[in-house]
Amino acid sequence: MSAVGGVIRSEIAALAAYHVQDAAGYIKLDAMENPFPLPDGLCEGLATHLSKAAVNRYPDPAAGALTKALRNAMGIPKELDILLGNGSDEIIQMLTMACAKPGAKLLSVEPAFVMFKMIATFCGVTYIGVPLRAADLRLDVDAMLAAIAEHHPALTFLAYPNNPTGNLFDREDIRKIIRASPGLVVIDEAYFAFSAQSFLDEISQFPNVVLMRTVSKLGLAGLRLGLLIGRRGWLAEVDKVRLPYNINCLTQAAAAFLLENIAEFTVQTKVLIAERATMIANLGRLFTRFPGTMCFPSEANFVLIRVPNATAVFAALKARKILVKNTSQSHTLMRDTLRITIGSPAENAAFLTALTSILETQYA
Ligand code: PMP
Repeated sequence: MSAVGGVIRSEIAALAAYHVQDAAGYIKLDAMENPFPLPDGLCEGLATHLSKAAVNRYPDPAAGALTKALRNAMGIPKELDILLGNGSDEIIQMLTMACAKPGAKLLSVEPAFVMFKMIATFCGVTYIGVPLRAADLRLDVDAMLAAIAEHHPALTFLAYPNNPTGNLFDREDIRKIIRASPGLVVIDEAYFAFSAQSFLDEISQFPNVVLMRTVSKLGLAGLRLGLLIGRRGWLAEVDKVRLPYNINCLTQAAAAFLLENIAEFTVQTKVLIAERATMIANLGRLFTRFPGTMCFPSEANFVLIRVPNATAVFAALKARKILVKNTSQSHTLMRDTLRITIGSPAENAAFLTALTSILETQYA
């Protein structure tokens, strides 16, 4: 009998595990991390702060100091509650678990962040993915509204900006989806720090919207900390499926201290936003030489590019010790695409040099 004697659920047995590439020795442009190490000026203060953490005790279940620091750093209004997760991945899981009634459905776009679909499967929730528009990877609002009318999703996840495409969906389209939704709409602002737009000021106008953020892309991916922001009524229910003490005391202490010094990270974020503009301009110039190549617009800390034979280009970059994400096989709309995280100026320059030489060889 397959799947370990028929014990493991067949939908879990059918899954491929979330694959993380081994990156040792590579220029790492595959996972939307901030490339910069902890600012020098913060290292000693962090060490002192961490040394005072009461590691002999279970962590503060309310994470009081950290919640306050997040509120200040992100300007979260008083009337909205905050729920913390071990990364926003855990928040997606808590939301889905809380809504996983028999027959419940989770709606998102395709392509979207893969964990929406994976977690739906973990929780026994039916996943509905509505393709983006093929020409420009923008939201197909009519198809989304039709899917809502047909499936009555309990949960709708929309990343703003979207991963892996990097674009912002039209705000008015998102409002239409919120108004048409019988269930909860989750706006996932994992990339908020790189985007000129946010729904934070708008969510209290709707009874059925919550907003998710993470500190991962700010330069704190190793801490594993995400947050859900929304009305108490929703968050109090989701909180019931949270495992006790899900945010360990070192993460609480480190994040509270570092977020009090958010300005240092804002400096890094600004560098990355400028680097994104440089990268897009450089790719634009490079791609005029090679028919069939293009770069999609991005409001995130990565850019999606289309190049013929993307899998061969991915392998050639890897041979030059540059790791990007090969998204070509993830969805039919993603044919021949690679997702490039914006790195440090030196890493981005190395990527461009390598890509130029690979394309010159390919088109020779
Ligand atoms: N949402 C989106 C759209 C993402 O791209 C990611 C990570 N790549 C996450 C959520 C998860 O972030 P984390 O668990 O690190 O907070």
